[in-house]
Amino acid sequence: MDILSLLESLMLLPAPSGYEKEMAYFLKDTLSQYADEVQIDRIGNVIARIGGTDKTSPSVMVFAHMDQLGFITRKIEADGYLQVDRLGGIPEKVLPGLKLVVRSGDGHFHPAVIGIKSHHATQPEEKYKVDPVTSLFIDLGAKSDRQVWEMGIDIGCPAIYRPSFEKLQGSRICGTAVDNRGGCASLVRTASLLHRNRPKSDVYFVGTVWEEFNLRGAAVAARAIRPDIALCLDVVLSGDTPDLRNRFEAGLGEGPAINLYTFHGRGTLNGTLPHEGLVKLALKSAEDAGLPIQRSATLGVITDSAYVQLEGAGVAVLDLGFPARYTHSPVEVCDVLDLENLSQIVSTMVQQLDSRFSLNRY
Ligand SMILES: [Zn+2]
Repeated sequence: MDILSLLESLMLLPAPSGYEKEMAYFLKDTLSQYADEVQIDRIGNVIARIGGTDKTSPSVMVFAHMDQLGFITRKIEADGYLQVDRLGGIPEKVLPGLKLVVRSGDGHFHPAVIGIKSHHATQPEEKYKVDPVTSLFIDLGAKSDRQVWEMGIDIGCPAIYRPSFEKLQGSRICGTAVDNRGGCASLVRTASLLHRNRPKSDVYFVGTVWEEFNLRGAAVAARAIRPDIALCLDVVLSGDTPDLRNRFEAGLGEGPAINLYTFHGRGTLNGTLPHEGLVKLALKSAEDAGLPIQRSATLGVITDSAYVQLEGAGVAVLDLGFPARYTHSPVEVCDVLDLENLSQIVSTMVQQLDSRFSLNRY
């Protein structure tokens, strides 16, 4: 399967944080073509292993989160509307009038919309105001709470943007959960490259859970795998739109990016300062492969590598990403070329690892 079709399949599968089952099994099946073994751990992480040829070479965990942000049903109104709260970092600006799917207890996803006041009845002072998610209502077309319960939907059921995938011009695509199905597509592609050309290091390919919720699903996988090195594949903020061109340098189609600094800075005291040896290895691998690579440093972003690095005696980590526009909205945009190049660079990095690589920071 080419990376574009793979990305489309991945983007159309629903996987709200905590409910990643369909994605996990799809990824397990896909990775099983390339890996020596694949398993799903107790919390739902997919862990595939390609055994290396030299036991003294450092082990590597390449990972990408499978989950996506969404909503949690908080209250069901007598007349069948749902009230919801956030499951992850939802941008409240884009919500009214969106199409959703709501997951019932039996695992089915039901179409719904987020209500928006009829335009004809909207007062001038309401037109430029953002409504908090807790003030919105979800419309399943149900007439009563009883009808909602009969669908198997109750308090605690998650919802997500209705999955969508659209080809734009050239190699650019648009849709839901580009964050982080782009990373998952690149993870699979990396596995296919390393399967053909087995490295010295044992490599674990991991689809992680809960990133958009608490960032810590990957840490459970790392605790079991005990890797020496972890490479995190996720989005990097693209700065090539009129609103961000003075803030970030990375641009779509100009190559994957390494993240030199992430820090959440909105309550979570964590982030990632990468292992310098891995930064050098990434830059050299891009150069050797004749591929472009960009640099990023972003306050306000955090990935699950921030927790993976704290496992065991410490794990050498690096965040590698692909530029994405409009993150966490239902119209995220990326360039598939960046995903392909990301896989090429990551597989080249892994190929170059051997027992001489220093895991210490200095
Ligand atoms: Zn992400």
